[in-house]
Amino acid sequence: MSVRTRPDLAALPGYVPGRTVPGAVKLASNEVSLGPLPSVVSAIAEAAARVNRYPDSGAGQLVAALAAKLGVAEAQVSVGCGSVTLCQQLVQATCSAEDGVVFPWRSFEAYPIITQVVGAQQTRVPLTAEHALDVDALIGAVTDTTRLVFVCTPNNPTGTALTAAELDRLITSVPRDTLVVIDEAYREFVDDPAVPDGVEVAKAAWAAGRDNVAVLRTFSKAYGLAGLRVGYLVAPAAVTEVVGKVFVPFGVNALAQAAALASLAAEDELLARCRDIVAERARVRAALLELGHEVPDSQANFVWLPLGERTAAFNEHCMAHKVIVRAFVGDGARVTIGTPAENDQFLEAARTFP
Ligand code: PMP
Repeated sequence: MSVRTRPDLAALPGYVPGRTVPGAVKLASNEVSLGPLPSVVSAIAEAAARVNRYPDSGAGQLVAALAAKLGVAEAQVSVGCGSVTLCQQLVQATCSAEDGVVFPWRSFEAYPIITQVVGAQQTRVPLTAEHALDVDALIGAVTDTTRLVFVCTPNNPTGTALTAAELDRLITSVPRDTLVVIDEAYREFVDDPAVPDGVEVAKAAWAAGRDNVAVLRTFSKAYGLAGLRVGYLVAPAAVTEVVGKVFVPFGVNALAQAAALASLAAEDELLARCRDIVAERARVRAALLELGHEVPDSQANFVWLPLGERTAAFNEHCMAHKVIVRAFVGDGARVTIGTPAENDQFLEAARTFP
């Protein structure tokens, strides 16, 4: 006799991580290609000498540093084991089986998986023809049972971002008891002045009496700590409190906390790297447009090629050129911006794609 497990999980597709192939350039997971700064490596090494002790479960020092940097109260910051875990905590903290989550689609692949794992209902709202979030359709999808709306901006995998006016319209059109989660995993790569800073948008919403706006950010991308797993949520204290109830104790390990603190201390240098990636993004996009591809304007550290049925062939062609991209078969390919040499290798593959 086999053990009884949840039958609904049988149909659940697993999260597909970007592939790693020895000898190939990996542009599949939106990581930064350069390794951590020496100051961050030393902080990790120092923390490693103390791993016989549990980490600070509340990540007090990191929460204090983030609150000071962002100009919010410490009670308005929660740290998580990557922002993906905070996504899950948010759904767990807001939804029971009959409640729903609304999110754009295609977007961050974890949203549908997490929602199903938690056992809540989901509504996927198609992107516009321009591969952007459809604000009116998102607003229209919210019903009495909707507890949470994920707003991924810039959107993974299309790179498009909402303007301040669009985000404001969304926030002011959603009922005040439905949580709007602005997922800003790629915020540090934004260079379009029309795209607002989500934390400032949230603070303005709170000041206007809307306590239903939260922001997710991560140390995985711009700060280069994908392998350590640490992200954070900025939200009204009532939200961080309930998110804390579903936090697995000691979820954010001591090395991650130390590295995140050291990365905040070295922020200027890390953000300068982001500017280099943004410049490369413009170069890669221009080259792809030149080749005749459609490439939406990206505000993230990747570009999107809506190749439709040609996606699988493009993926294989890139693999043959030792470049790993992230293919969503039948839809498109997402290509992370790497170092100039890595990007050149990708562009060479793209140039020879029939
Ligand atoms: N949100 C978005 C939009 C993402 O693309 C990702 C990573 N792919 C995450 C959240 C989660 O990142 P992490 O868990 O590494 O912080």
